[in-house]
Amino acid sequence: MTAQTIDGKAFAARIRGEVAGHVAVLGRAHGIVPGLAVVLVGEDPASQVYVRNKHRQTVEAGMQSFEHRLPVGTSEDALLALIARLNADPAVHGILVQLPLPAQIDADKVIAAIHPAKDVDGFHISNVGLLATGQKALVPCTPLGCLMMLRDRLGSLSGREAVVIGRSNIVGKPMAQLLLRDSCTVTLAHSRTRELPQVVRRAEIVVAAVGRPGMVTGDWIRPGATVIDVGINRIEDPVTGKTRLMGDCDFDSCAAVAGAITPVPGGVGPMTIACLLANTLTATCRAAGLPEPEGLTA
Ligand code: NAP
Repeated sequence: MTAQTIDGKAFAARIRGEVAGHVAVLGRAHGIVPGLAVVLVGEDPASQVYVRNKHRQTVEAGMQSFEHRLPVGTSEDALLALIARLNADPAVHGILVQLPLPAQIDADKVIAAIHPAKDVDGFHISNVGLLATGQKALVPCTPLGCLMMLRDRLGSLSGREAVVIGRSNIVGKPMAQLLLRDSCTVTLAHSRTRELPQVVRRAEIVVAAVGRPGMVTGDWIRPGATVIDVGINRIEDPVTGKTRLMGDCDFDSCAAVAGAITPVPGGVGPMTIACLLANTLTATCRAAGLPEPEGLTA
């Protein structure tokens, strides 16, 4: 079997197009322009690239983008004061603080300071609790993107065996919650899981979010399974010395067995910003008491 490759780039473009369509209608019908504030502390090169891309795609979707770039030495109090201003600003519907933060700032404290209704990353404990109890939440962007791709490929997920590898707060745990919400039978695996290949072999849906290049190989995959590779690992080619991106799954061997698989790059990655824009739109509609667009939330 040769798996179908799920084109995350094309899918993300479609989601961004849908978001842009809803944004245009919001403007025409209600005079509302969704606003996303992104806060970057310091000059981490990877974070700078992410923030630039977020800004560009926010503007392209017809939303307002508010960028706040703060020096690396910014105090926790100064950052909390900025968050308080953004919480109170009616033009700002979504707030994202780019992680990681410098050592002098407690990231948990900063996330807790963001108003849950503007927490478009879905990391605030209120949103985590709402998701866990099956209530309306803002859901973390990366697992939301994975869910959208799975629903698109498989239709109803009800009753399916799903294995999520990795239990981080930003990917693994919310992914497991989302799959449970869609009535999958979910196993959440991690570094202490015994017989991991055997556990993964049961799954019709595999989501790998580990951070170990090529860890999941084809002999772990149940024939026909859908494999979502969240991993983004930078590896050096021993021959050329050049670096390239690799997922947590060994693409070729997994693709030989799976029914469908996301590539790295070009799979889950592009969906994350698309879902950030979707979450900003959702937060805007909720703040205005308007119905939420269908298919863009969990
Ligand atoms: P993380 O916080 O480091 O968590 C990694 C998880 O993998 C942990 O739960 C860990 O288990 C588990 N793990 C580590 N080694 C393992 C092993 N040998 N067997 C089974 N489980 C193992 O990572 P993360 O933030 O979730 O990110 C995971 C990957 O996704 C990274 O490559 C990251 O770059 C990528 N990522 C991509 C996007 C995107 O937009 N596409 C977004 C976020 C993250 P323990 O809990 O037991 O230690």
